[in-house]
Amino acid sequence: MICDVLVIGAGVMGISSAYHLKRLNPGKRVVVIEKLGGPGQGSTAKSGGGFRNLLTSDTNRLPS
Ligand SMILES: Cc1cc2nc3c(=O)[nH]c(=O)nc-3n(C[C@H](O)[C@H](O)[C@H](O)COP(=O)(O)OP(=O)(O)OC[C@H]3O[C@@H](n4cnc5c(N)ncnc54)[C@H](O)[C@@H]3O)c2cc1C
Repeated sequence: MICDVLVIGAGVMGISSAYHLKRLNPGKRVVVIEKLGGPGQGSTAKSGGGFRNLLTSDTNRLPS
């Protein structure tokens, strides 16, 4: 298999990385491989989906 970028693991991080790499570089061949039966079956499947927004200042709250 020939590709420009190989992403190993189709969890939320791998899929997101592949999506943004392809979006920013449409001419690049981005391939995601996954050892389980399909995407999102690792930790991503177990996530409670909680989003914490308890910090009081923008400095702490905003992503760096
Ligand atoms: C019980 C639980 C509850 C959680 N709740 C929350 C929450 O409420 N809020 C929150 O923000 N986060 C939560 N998390 C954390 C969150 O789920 C993880 O941080 C996130 O899903 C990690 O994503 P990931 O893509 O890095 O890893 P994963 O989703 O684990 O993806 C990695 C993938 O790589 C694959 N892989 C590994 N090695 C190889 C290989 N050699 N070849 C091919 N494929 C490979 C795996 O099979 C897997 O599918 C929780 C986690 C758990 C376990």
